[in-house]
Amino acid sequence: MFKAILIDKQNDAQQVRLAEVNEAELPEGDVTVRVAYSTLNYKDALAITGKSPIVRSYPMVPGIDFSGTVEQSSHPDYKPGDAVVLNGWGVGEKHWGGLAELASVKGDWLVPLQAPITLRQAMGIGTAGYTAMLCVMALERHGVTPDQGDILVTGAAGGVGSVAVAILAKLGYSVAAVTGRPQEAEYLRALGASQVLERAEFAEKGKPLAKERWAGAVDVAGGQVLANVLAGIKYRGTVAACGLAAGMGLPATVAPFILRGVTLAGVDSVMCPKSDRLEAWRRLAADLDLGKLGDVVHDLALDAVIPAAGRLIDGQVRGRVVVPIG
Ligand code: NDP
Repeated sequence: MFKAILIDKQNDAQQVRLAEVNEAELPEGDVTVRVAYSTLNYKDALAITGKSPIVRSYPMVPGIDFSGTVEQSSHPDYKPGDAVVLNGWGVGEKHWGGLAELASVKGDWLVPLQAPITLRQAMGIGTAGYTAMLCVMALERHGVTPDQGDILVTGAAGGVGSVAVAILAKLGYSVAAVTGRPQEAEYLRALGASQVLERAEFAEKGKPLAKERWAGAVDVAGGQVLANVLAGIKYRGTVAACGLAAGMGLPATVAPFILRGVTLAGVDSVMCPKSDRLEAWRRLAADLDLGKLGDVVHDLALDAVIPAAGRLIDGQVRGRVVVPIG
């Protein structure tokens, strides 16, 4: 038997509980991992609260990421004792995820833990931090360099935003952090932000083109916020867009694209090819000040995950939530 958060559905009503599950019920996979740490991501919180149709089949163990040690493997790349990390691939959505003591997955979904990152730090970074790195790589691929000017990061006090601020600052970019929580200004400056801006400044409908202020941006918000971010991007700048915290819509015009040559670069972490994942984790090992994670990360016990999910959706949770399991 092993402990797992289990989401079930009966008579159209979703139920979530911390359950004891029989190992025989684990889904098919060529690698079994003893989970050391998982996390509580925005998507996990949506799955647990049932606020969005994240879960594709029931019963489901949520948890879109985990780090741990291989227990059994028939995959050529992995043997018992190997330290591994998993992000995405539909885990926690259509395949049982990381908020459990054991996980059975495809070896092709795993990446080896990248030294000097520890199992705990890997989940301190988590899918949010790995996505933040993918966003930074997208800006770089589109030629955004520190000498071109300020980089805007929206949702800066959240998981993706916090790590994006820390990485960009370490790489020498001047970072403007947008937050709806002005009380987090000191925290954001400690991560490396040189300016902290109020979310309200970006929330209302603005002009199709605004003053050219930002060489690039990492946007977790979408919606009107992203439309306003695009309107303020400098000539030939790039926005890496990965989230929808402000909404799924994009009430923008093509003006930034056709008059300023702005690029909107989409970032997806879930189906991201393995080569980019390996590159992102290598870059995280090199370009993230792991000491800064201490400020970003806090622990949450497995039995406290369910009530915390609602608080995360309400934007009441700062930084990254790590769930120690093994
Ligand atoms: P968090 O909940 O940790 O952070 C989201 C942050 O967004 C909040 O902390 C808040 O920051 C800000 N925010 C909340 N509501 C609004 C709003 N109405 N308008 C503007 N900003 C808002 O989530 P994560 O950082 O883990 O994820 C952020 C987004 O990125 C989510 O939409 C998530 O689904 C998406 N995501 C996408 C991935 C991908 O593969 N594309 C992977 C990982 C995440 P503050 O308090 O500073 O304003």
